[in-house]
Amino acid sequence: MLRLIPDIQQFTPADGKCDLSRLTLRGFPEGYAYGIDNASDGLPVRFFQTEMPAEGYRIDLKQDGIDVFAADGRGAYYAVVTLRQLKRFSDGAVDCGVIEDSPRCSYRGYMLDVGRYFFPVEDVCKLIDLISLYKINVLHLHLTEDQGWRIEIKRYPKLTEIGSKRRRTHIHLKPHEGFYTQENLRFLVAYAKARAVEIMPEFDMPGHCTAAVAAYPDLACFPRSVGVAETFGVKFDVLCLAQDATFEFVRNVLDEMIEIFPYPMVHIGGDEVPTHRWELCPACRDLYAKSGVGNWLEYQARFMNRVSEYLRSKGKTAVMWNPPRSVKGLDPAIVWQFWTAELPAGVVEAELAAGRKMINSDSKGYYLDFLYGVTPLRKTYRTKPSFVEGKQGADRVIGIEGAMWTELVPDLRRAEYLTFPRLAAIAERAWSREEDFEGFSAAWDMHQRYLREKGVRTAPKRVYRSSIVQAVAHKIWWARRQLYWGGLRNLIDNKKIETEAKNMKQKGDKR
Ligand SMILES: [Zn+2]
Repeated sequence: MLRLIPDIQQFTPADGKCDLSRLTLRGFPEGYAYGIDNASDGLPVRFFQTEMPAEGYRIDLKQDGIDVFAADGRGAYYAVVTLRQLKRFSDGAVDCGVIEDSPRCSYRGYMLDVGRYFFPVEDVCKLIDLISLYKINVLHLHLTEDQGWRIEIKRYPKLTEIGSKRRRTHIHLKPHEGFYTQENLRFLVAYAKARAVEIMPEFDMPGHCTAAVAAYPDLACFPRSVGVAETFGVKFDVLCLAQDATFEFVRNVLDEMIEIFPYPMVHIGGDEVPTHRWELCPACRDLYAKSGVGNWLEYQARFMNRVSEYLRSKGKTAVMWNPPRSVKGLDPAIVWQFWTAELPAGVVEAELAAGRKMINSDSKGYYLDFLYGVTPLRKTYRTKPSFVEGKQGADRVIGIEGAMWTELVPDLRRAEYLTFPRLAAIAERAWSREEDFEGFSAAWDMHQRYLREKGVRTAPKRVYRSSIVQAVAHKIWWARRQLYWGGLRNLIDNKKIETEAKNMKQKGDKR
């Protein structure tokens, strides 16, 4: 049997050959329709619904036809994806026999950060086409950032009027703008659904919100004109958590979001939240004192809990990036997207044992914006999908996700280059149970040729091995990103606000 990506679970051969050159496959199927024409002169294909693991399928390849068994539409769709690969990469005839296959993880994700750089609808469609070839079933759209707000919210038109425009970008120093209308996003949801992909939206809060604060300065502790962020790094102007108006804003935005995205999970960010403004804000300090929390991380957790509770009342589950350490009182129902290995030892294990679900996006293996010299293909492939294999709570790691951050990725060409082949490796680890890097690598050569013929810019083999030069470049970039985090501009701003806060205090002016 031909080596597929992701590798199939089991093939039991039988006598004879099945002539796939007689199989007629349509372009892309609609709404999980099976995408196979049962033309009378072609190879007959029959579909049966039967008991099976979710998303699993069975294909009986026979001399006189093909029978497909699946429990759900996705299983049938993946059977077609498998047949497509078999037809594409074999010389037409394959051995008869039975393929039985189902995914290891129920969550197999790809994240696209459209906040730093906007990706037009047609580019997102191209990426959906590509990820569906590898049985990825979630596109996580990171829709809001310091550098851009990308989703139309009818109640707050300034979010896109002001928040979707960056005066200049960090790399090219050119103006940059763009956003999706609600109609655009509904189109993308349908387009993805027809390829068995769900879209999980992200509204990153209460940090990474400069674009929102630029549009509505009252959302911050100290309302002033900040402008959409132009440089990368982490910004200090986060949402003020002590005003009811902030929560009302969040709720209204989420209401419009969940009307567009019908799926159960909504990402609420929660990562990289500097607390400098809160520490100076009279209202935040008041609330902090009243709520009896022990630190600012717990202060933030109370807000995340409130948002999670609200989403739960709408039948949704909140997902957030893991906090830098364990946080007392954080809602156990919030799914963690694990991204940083900087967490103290034992925190992940303890959270899983206590019942928290997680998605693994370990930055050391699954961050797709890192250069190949820093994260070579082999490293991505060898990263363990579950960090607690065989231990208590292992089944709570629901899957893995490759994250395409775009601080340094301005367009589709660059995104494709960094995504492939690494996302194919992630897809295989999320789907297949066996680890087989050599088999994957050899099979990838065929996929690479095919994708290049289709005009996809995949990274050539010579670049995806480790490189000291790139590792050093990456370190310098990361240090610079940190500098922009604690950096000069943030520090100057903070000093200004500190003085302002002191003056307010002297005047007894509590806002
Ligand atoms: Zn505040």
